[in-house]
Amino acid sequence: MGMFGQFWSGVLKPIHQLLAKGGSNCLACGKTISICVPGYSELCLPCYSSIPWITEPRCHICGRHVGCPDCSRKGGVPRSFVMNRSSVAYNSTMRQWLAQYKYRGHEGYSLVLARMMGRAMEQMKQELKPQGIKLDGVVFVPLSEERWRERGFNQAEELAKGAALAGRRAGGRLPLLNLLMRSRHTDKQSFKSRSERLINMQGVFQTLPDATEQLGRVILGTRRTGLDHEAVIRLLLVDDVYTTGSTINACAAVLQNICGQLGFSGEIYSLTWARS
Ligand SMILES: [Zn+2]
Ligand SMILES: [Zn+2]
Repeated sequence: MGMFGQFWSGVLKPIHQLLAKGGSNCLACGKTISICVPGYSELCLPCYSSIPWITEPRCHICGRHVGCPDCSRKGGVPRSFVMNRSSVAYNSTMRQWLAQYKYRGHEGYSLVLARMMGRAMEQMKQELKPQGIKLDGVVFVPLSEERWRERGFNQAEELAKGAALAGRRAGGRLPLLNLLMRSRHTDKQSFKSRSERLINMQGVFQTLPDATEQLGRVILGTRRTGLDHEAVIRLLLVDDVYTTGSTINACAAVLQNICGQLGFSGEIYSLTWARS
């Protein structure tokens, strides 16, 4: 191939890559995929284009994309997390996608959602970088044993894997830690008022027996250089949807306790797939 040929192969390659292998159907709408979206080969272009990414949150505490009265409200339960960021707005399409995955066990969504989480993680890293903030590990909101048996997987854990991978530091991935347990399943929260939801969450989350040991090992591993003597552990907490923040807040309080047991103060950052 001469120089001219090489030139054209270089130009044509990306265009060629955009054309999907014939016959694959879109995960979301089922139609044949004619144009392949880089990194999202499971989706057709219209479905990919319908993803309501949150690129600039309006509320810098809870990451909401629209005006937020909750975070400026005084009183109530103190906030145990620094901030929340979410990948997408929880609209009706995203609600359908999550339902397909979570309740119908449609596994095809697993990687798509994890990649969307990865994107949010990259965005969060960019936001934290100027402040010199580095995360020590990723944790996730646990399911109750009852729900685990029903579903066979924890969607928050799967999403956390996506975040941990994108949150890699020094070549590896951010450690994924399993620190929490859920003693009971909470009732449908959607019909409750904000204060009812907050009360409903009390005592739901607990520390797993080996949580301190797990976290201690990670901290020893990453800070053995002796350069990093900061007495703060920074954890990223992952869940599928942030609604009132009551679940995140309850988990964050328990995580702070675990950090405290190791003699550190805990800073908990939250990342969810969607923000309602
Ligand atoms: Zn589609
Ligand atoms: Zn807010």
